[in-house]
Amino acid sequence: MNRIGVGYDVHQLVEGRKCILGGVEIPYERGLDGHSDADVLIHAIADAVLGALGEVDIGHYFPNTDPKWKGIRSTVFLEEIARVMKEKGATLMNIDSSLVGEEPKISKHIPAMKEHIAKSLGVTVGQVGIKATTNEKMGFLGRGEGIAAMAVALIEMR
Ligand code: MG
Repeated sequence: MNRIGVGYDVHQLVEGRKCILGGVEIPYERGLDGHSDADVLIHAIADAVLGALGEVDIGHYFPNTDPKWKGIRSTVFLEEIARVMKEKGATLMNIDSSLVGEEPKISKHIPAMKEHIAKSLGVTVGQVGIKATTNEKMGFLGRGEGIAAMAVALIEMR
């Protein structure tokens, strides 16, 4: 049986934080705020895969009240989710995702992001889609207050 899942996340851009997207540190004067490394793209992807598996969301799986996850690289979440997929006899077919924000410009970092995400999930780079767009200067994303990400995942369950 094929199953699909959707994920969405948003994090605020603040000073004094590293900007980590798709497991890649992007040179920028601000970074995403959060309990973990606040990798908004990976969080959306994690929720999409968890949703396809019929699991609870990332916030329940990796609670931000648990010191174990403080400052952790979000690729670890994907490694954990890959383990759950294996346990459940699920195969990841593909992921697609979009990042939404005005800054920083990320297109040149997308190949590296795909590599990090594919490696963490145990799939090939060709199974990971990442796109980027702006919010056309509208709203909180358009003012550069944060970055949002959305993702879908398709899995095959045996
Ligand atoms: Mg998040």
